[in-house]
Amino acid sequence: MSKTIVSIALWALGGWLLGAWLGAATGWAVFALGLLIMVLVSGLQLSRIARWVHHIDEPPPPSIGPWDEILAPIYRKLKQNRLDLKERNRNFQRALLAAEALPDGALTLAPDKSLLWCNQTAASHLGLDLSRDRGHSILNIIRTPEFARYAHQDHWDKPLTLHLGRGLHMRTLLLHMTPYAVGQFLMVTRDITQIERLESTRKDFVANVSHEMRTPLTVLSGFIETLLDLPDDAIPLDQRRRYLHLMEQQAHNMQALVSDLLTLSALESSPNGQGEPVVLAPLIRTALTQAQAISKDRHLFDVQISDTLAIIGQASELSSAISNLLTNAVRYTPAGGTIRVRWALLPDGQASYQVADTGIGIDYALIPRLTERFFRVDRGRSRASGGTGLGLAITKHVALRHQASLDIDSTPGEGSTFTIRFPASRVCDASAAPPQSKQAAQAL
Ligand code: ADP
Repeated sequence: MSKTIVSIALWALGGWLLGAWLGAATGWAVFALGLLIMVLVSGLQLSRIARWVHHIDEPPPPSIGPWDEILAPIYRKLKQNRLDLKERNRNFQRALLAAEALPDGALTLAPDKSLLWCNQTAASHLGLDLSRDRGHSILNIIRTPEFARYAHQDHWDKPLTLHLGRGLHMRTLLLHMTPYAVGQFLMVTRDITQIERLESTRKDFVANVSHEMRTPLTVLSGFIETLLDLPDDAIPLDQRRRYLHLMEQQAHNMQALVSDLLTLSALESSPNGQGEPVVLAPLIRTALTQAQAISKDRHLFDVQISDTLAIIGQASELSSAISNLLTNAVRYTPAGGTIRVRWALLPDGQASYQVADTGIGIDYALIPRLTERFFRVDRGRSRASGGTGLGLAITKHVALRHQASLDIDSTPGEGSTFTIRFPASRVCDASAAPPQSKQAAQAL
């Protein structure tokens, strides 16, 4: 403004001087010309400014006279605002990335509980698709009465445990809602399906072990009380012997149970290493000797095993799986039955250990449950033959640790075939095995 006044004053002074020298008309003409030039220059500057406004991120045009003073601070402010905005955007992106990286699901809700945003984990927990569900009420997305009740609370001290889906697809989520910002809500979701399953498996396991122990202990203490309470001559010798024999049987059952529990615990706690080449033939022969001792010549054994086939693995674990299948075949095959044992290399490079019997067989529907801990088709029969209900669970565990499969094929009344198939990557030749593993390894 001051520049403009100085310019007008200079033109007026020039006009007045020329007017005094060349006449008033010339003076006024020069003054008018000066004003005209000023208007034209100002118009030119305005049109440059108008062009600049369309490219406001660039610096304003240079030498625009009095406009310099106005535009320079505006441009500085704009530049500062742009930098601030960039910084805020960067922070926002960082916060979003951090929210995405959270191991838990997170979603934000508007005051009317409609979905504003969610991270990938929350999307997979609740089956959300942000492009489809944004703006929809969370109550229409999670349609369970428990959640509706929870969402309508005024404050949320505790999380809500929610079971979603059915059968195998059922998952358990922990949801926790918290108010944040102005009237909005943050909901955190955590998948606890695995934790819940483990917890219930642990409870079942403890209950099963206690139950399994209680039966032999009750029998044992019953006999002990009888023997203590009655005078020696009140029990005939043969009856006393029968009692002692039953007590011995119960003690053996408990021993077998403890031994299987220790095996399971060893399998679960030891690291799953590659192992070393183990020739299976001696392990199978040792297990056969034990099985034949249980059979007491009541079964026919048909055995064909390769002496040169070895598996990279743990000898003690393999030995346990091998003998479990063999003793089961003996225990669940009536006298006169045949037990066929095969250990061979398959054409596709895999190796197969197979035990087939002509025993009582298993109902097709129960086959998937056989490897569950403590599952028995006939509890009484299993117990009477010294079974713990853990043999196949151990065998399956050992197979998995060797990337092998355990296949069960059975027909009630005709017999069963159990096959452990080792992958080609685990198969090697006996010559690769160190001498000590060629000897029969002790069972776990
Ligand atoms: P157990 O100690 O009771 O034999 P397992 O885990 O070894 O426990 O086997 C689980 C159940 O599977 C057994 O109780 C039995 O009912 C059934 N089973 C296992 N092997 C055979 C078989 N060869 N023939 C018929 N049933 C079998």
